[in-house]
Amino acid sequence: MTIVGIRGFRDILPGDVERWQFIENTTRKILEDFGFKEIKIPVLEKTELFARSIGEDTDIVEKEMYSFLDRKGESLTLRPEATASVLRAYIEHNLYKEEPIKKLYSIGPMFRYERPQKGRYRQFYQINAEVLGVEDPKIDVELMVMLLHLLKRLGVRRTDLSVNSLGCSRCRPQFRESLRSFFETRLDILCPDCKRRLKTNPLRIMDCKMETCTKVASDAPSILDFLCSECLTHFDAVKEMLRTFEIPYVVNPHMVRGLDYYTRTAFEISSSELGAQNAIAGGGRYDNLLKELGGPDIPGIGFAIGIERLALLLEEREGLFRFPKVFVAALGSEAQNDAFRLTTALRLKGIWVEIDYGDKSLKSQMRRANKLKADFALIMGEQELKSGSAILRDMKTGHQEEIDLGKGMDELIEKIG
Ligand code: AMP
Repeated sequence: MTIVGIRGFRDILPGDVERWQFIENTTRKILEDFGFKEIKIPVLEKTELFARSIGEDTDIVEKEMYSFLDRKGESLTLRPEATASVLRAYIEHNLYKEEPIKKLYSIGPMFRYERPQKGRYRQFYQINAEVLGVEDPKIDVELMVMLLHLLKRLGVRRTDLSVNSLGCSRCRPQFRESLRSFFETRLDILCPDCKRRLKTNPLRIMDCKMETCTKVASDAPSILDFLCSECLTHFDAVKEMLRTFEIPYVVNPHMVRGLDYYTRTAFEISSSELGAQNAIAGGGRYDNLLKELGGPDIPGIGFAIGIERLALLLEEREGLFRFPKVFVAALGSEAQNDAFRLTTALRLKGIWVEIDYGDKSLKSQMRRANKLKADFALIMGEQELKSGSAILRDMKTGHQEEIDLGKGMDELIEKIG
């Protein structure tokens, strides 16, 4: 019996992977232009890191983590998101001592035990960006501007930005109490998980995926009515700057994001071109998280983009594929040896060359050159071998000319550009 891959874990095959490479390369360029540096973090962390940062009552920690005991009985978890790990590394390596503002990005797989469907997988890839050390609302807007710019550069056309403020440790407790009173009077409609969350963390009812809970939550009080003056000023500044940059947005007072650590600004970008799983990116501020993880009292903000969903949006995009410059077609064993030497020499000069091994007919080799969409075919037969030459065929125009290989590869390299 053959062994197949795990449900929700996918192979990204050649033909598909080019879109991923385009996404990753474009991301690196743009994020680095905005001053971000890459950080590579492990996929495995102590379970406690996620339980403490994401929050015990969240769907992620309660139901979706891939946690297991290692050989020594320690509970480890495949990371469900990157922020906690980036902050752990930031604290562990005292990165705050190097410079007051740190901008870090990472690209890699995340793991969540969710029900797989189009655009939702159990292993999925995220681009993650974090800025540590800035309280100014300008950075909130900078991140949104950068994110939207990146999406535009990738060719994602229709995007919708929603923003909200989740308050801070001063004003959120009042909102939490108001939510508790609201849901208490509707207890019988809530799912069993939310009944429990009502006691432990009523905010989490707001992102329950059960239809009945979602419906009740849509009438819940708005956090915006509870913001303290500092949080209001911060949120007003964010909205004002978004307007200055002419960035359309809607305020969604019910967007709480599925993680406990957010404070103040929260934002999400979705696309109407995607199906049910229409969220492309989400992020927000987490001004207390570093401190809660045992680090310094430094504010932070970040976002994550889902690469699978970007790749879905780029499905129709052309021009992402590269093709070989030259296909070398050789006839007869002696010419094949020469062809092999020439192919290797051209590759060592940085030119993409393809060749067939085995004694194939010229017709079959030319068919392969066509299939690979090579710009040129270089034909080396017995006849050419004698005169130390080869025939260069432009595969688009069909134009052919003889190239003298006796004097080296210069003429050939010049002709193929
Ligand atoms: P989150 O960390 O939940 O805010 O997710 C950030 C982004 O990651 C989302 O907007 C999605 O694009 C993507 N994402 C989250 N969960 C999944 C998943 N299970 N499969 C694919 N993409 C996901």
